[in-house]
Amino acid sequence: MEKTLVLIKPDGVARGLTGQILARFEQVGLKLVAMKMVHASHEDVDRHYALTEEWMMAVYSKAKAKYEAEGRPFDYPDHKAYGGEIKRGLVDFLKSAPIVALVLEGEMAVSLVRKLVGATEPASSAPGTIRGDFSHDTYALSNSQNRPLRNLIHASGNLEEANNEIKIWFTDTELYKYEHAFDAVQYDPKWFLPS
Ligand code: ADP
Repeated sequence: MEKTLVLIKPDGVARGLTGQILARFEQVGLKLVAMKMVHASHEDVDRHYALTEEWMMAVYSKAKAKYEAEGRPFDYPDHKAYGGEIKRGLVDFLKSAPIVALVLEGEMAVSLVRKLVGATEPASSAPGTIRGDFSHDTYALSNSQNRPLRNLIHASGNLEEANNEIKIWFTDTELYKYEHAFDAVQYDPKWFLPS
């Protein structure tokens, strides 16, 4: 069974959305196996957002595609400079105020959580997703204000990322094992079979 990491960023906590966000994950049957409030250190956040070539290129390409689709000029020629700038802003933002870290467990938990969270830019995120329902921030506005998108949540992008990120925020003993309703209702093949 997969485990994945979610961070409710300072904007989600400060807006009092922690409970509503948690409810979105609980209502699909994901098992909450760890949770804590943290005022993160620079080192924690720096480790969490690794400044790889791949990450800088992804951040740059997603924003460029959106600017072009809107017919706006995208005046950032260099993915390294752009990605580096976004990362600096993100680190400052994530360590500026308390965040809530969660580990959720379930079948295909990583992709399920990403689906519930929605697209990076809240304004393009579908209704029904957390980012789409609780924010309408845009690349253009956040870039013009020289800050990262305030999109409420971080969620691991793939299983390898999830395994690495969980270790940044939790020790093994902070990950709990307990009986959850879905262990029977969804995962036990013998549940409710007529005798
Ligand atoms: P996601 O959080 O959807 O996985 P990324 O990993 O690409 O997105 O980016 C990490 C975070 O950096 C985003 O959630 C957002 O807060 C911020 N961010 C990414 N790209 C931009 C951008 N072009 N402008 C402003 N903030 C950005």
